[in-house]
Amino acid sequence: MTSFLDRLRNPDHTGERRCWPCTVTNAVLLGLACVGLARRRSRTLAAALGVGGVAAIALRGYFVPFTPRFAPQLTQRLPGNVFHADAGEDREQRHAPDSPGSLGGETDEETGEAVLQSLLERGVVVADGETLYLAEDFRDEWREKVQALRGRDDRGLADALRESAPEETVTEIVEQDGGRFGEAERWFVVSDGSGDPAREQWLTRPIAVAEIGAVRALADSTSLSATRRAQSAGALRMLLETCPVCDGPVEETTEVECCGGPGGTRADAPDDVLACGDCGSRLYTFQ
Ligand SMILES: [Zn+2]
Repeated sequence: MTSFLDRLRNPDHTGERRCWPCTVTNAVLLGLACVGLARRRSRTLAAALGVGGVAAIALRGYFVPFTPRFAPQLTQRLPGNVFHADAGEDREQRHAPDSPGSLGGETDEETGEAVLQSLLERGVVVADGETLYLAEDFRDEWREKVQALRGRDDRGLADALRESAPEETVTEIVEQDGGRFGEAERWFVVSDGSGDPAREQWLTRPIAVAEIGAVRALADSTSLSATRRAQSAGALRMLLETCPVCDGPVEETTEVECCGGPGGTRADAPDDVLACGDCGSRLYTFQ
């Protein structure tokens, strides 16, 4: 029975990826349809529709065709934002970016090439034709650092982040509402302290753990400057083979969310990402 249900289940729109605007919109439409049917036709028919509709929402995420295309726009017009528990309260008006940032900030092509060159010269990365790999020694060292970091609480991780960043960098923990009911997302933000959003980098916990680990491993095994180490951390993340959170396998995948929450448009152009095959942590976004 379980395997039959599993086969019916659509993982793109259920479980962690369930989209609440879609679910609620469908439940309301289903309720209205059942009431109408019970009044005008028969209660048995209405009950059958009710059971079928609930099963579809539970297993498939929604039953009204094309829900992901219209539900976000529909719910966005509702007063307040019903899908954000704290909407309207005076929480700081800061917005997490679409893609997580990196300790080293955004790097232009020239810097990117210089970073890669220095990693190749120091034997941190090895090239096999067009393909790049982490050198085995460095990979082991990086994993050791990551394993020592992953158990830290948020404060401890933010402190480690500040130590790993170039001088004068400010780190803070910012909590934001996720796209779903009351679920908070925690970000580790590094900046120059000016409050200018353009000079901020927002890191998720898995990315912070990976990058601090990389900086520490680089500090032990190379003579790279603090700035170069921070810049390297983002590039090295592209070569991760195991998850910094759970040691699961890192796989290339496409980020397909139902609709990205209210107003989300990411379904149109999903990003290619590296993510953990076990825990789903998103580890690198290809731009
Ligand atoms: Zn994982």
